Amino acid sequence: MDIKRLHGTMDLLPEAAARWTEFERRIRKVMLQFGFGEIRVPIMEPTELFAKGTGESTDIVQKEMYTFEDRGGRSITLRPEGTPSVVRAFLEHSLGAQRPSWKLYYIGPMFRAERPQQGRYRQFHQFGAEFLGTDAPHADVELIALAYATLTELGLREMRLLINSIGSPDARRAHDVELRKYLRDDTNWKRLCADCHRRTESNPLRVFDCKVEQCIDVVAGAPTIDGFLTDDDRAHFHDVQTGLKSIGLPYEVDVRMVRGLDYYTRTTFEIKAEGIGSQDSLCGGGRYDLLVETLDGPPTPAVGFASGIERILSTLEANGIELAEPPMLDVFVCALGAAAIERLPQILNRLRALGFTADGDFLGRGLKAQMKDANRRNARVAILIGDNEIERGQYTLRRMDDSQQTEIPADTDQWTAETFRT
Ligand code: AMP
Repeated sequence: MDIKRLHGTMDLLPEAAARWTEFERRIRKVMLQFGFGEIRVPIMEPTELFAKGTGESTDIVQKEMYTFEDRGGRSITLRPEGTPSVVRAFLEHSLGAQRPSWKLYYIGPMFRAERPQQGRYRQFHQFGAEFLGTDAPHADVELIALAYATLTELGLREMRLLINSIGSPDARRAHDVELRKYLRDDTNWKRLCADCHRRTESNPLRVFDCKVEQCIDVVAGAPTIDGFLTDDDRAHFHDVQTGLKSIGLPYEVDVRMVRGLDYYTRTTFEIKAEGIGSQDSLCGGGRYDLLVETLDGPPTPAVGFASGIERILSTLEANGIELAEPPMLDVFVCALGAAAIERLPQILNRLRALGFTADGDFLGRGLKAQMKDANRRNARVAILIGDNEIERGQYTLRRMDDSQQTEIPADTDQWTAETFRT
């Protein structure tokens, strides 16, 4: 067949899927420990949600969304990130009226029309968490601690936590004026790329995110946001840092880290992996005190993060960290000959009713091939059934690790769980 999967998407074959299942199990465990409840929101949403929520000036909305018109002429977008959907659901179900604060998490696919490369896909997966309803610096600390704990639970050790404060709108406005002035200076302006020209108009802070070499050069001399923070912003950022110190989380302040989304206010943070190349950002997040209002909700300060599952998995692989033990099969049934194969369904049925994971050979192959399969499947014991065994009314039970053999009755009614505890 000539039909192939779309560029930038992936198939997960059983071995990889088992790793993902284990990954998700650990994420859920940590989320539960921190008191976060799961929320599942749709993969497609009205385009307007992201245009307003993620922000018109972001690269995501400008050039990376999978947007299409449905049969009713509505503009639909495959979600490029989770936060706007969580906020929409928060408002749609009036969660804020039920409880003053909410801790929510999600796991699922996101879609961005980016140029696929190592660590960058068009359908990728994120888990993320949102803490809605408080602007307390301790909430930021709780969220950062959660992000860090999920990565630790997955086995990662060498990580760098970068934090910054991009301030309140007042600070941003003051900074924007100076930054625009700097960028529009003749010598600087000439060296900036077309995207940065656009950013200078719509959201100048975004130039700090540009990856074009010349722009990086220009931006190196630009005024940074730290000089423009209000006293309240400074106090908030100070308390976040005190909180991080109190739980022993090492961090670095990076005044140039602004993150690629429009809605952030005050704290932004990123967790990077060491030694995996340019796509080393595992997790990004920050405070978004105004997003709920932007989406027509009541004033509701919040903080959140999202982590990229594929990135984390390749970091684990680069560090030789195994996530899942190969699944263990309790019993493999080697059926040798037509009479044995005929009994296979009933035998497997009985084993499963006793609570075992059980499988067998349906192909009527030779003993050697079947034993090879039992080994490959990581079986604990094998039952060998040939014409001899059927005649004797006794099957052979073989322990796979040391090939020790015993006999068990052929009458499956006599089997109990004990029969197979060799
Ligand atoms: P963002 O939602 O852009 O703040 O990204 C949060 C995290 O998602 C990043 O740190 C990456 O780990 C991951 N991520 C973002 N975009 C992609 C992509 N195209 N492919 C794979 N992972 C991604």
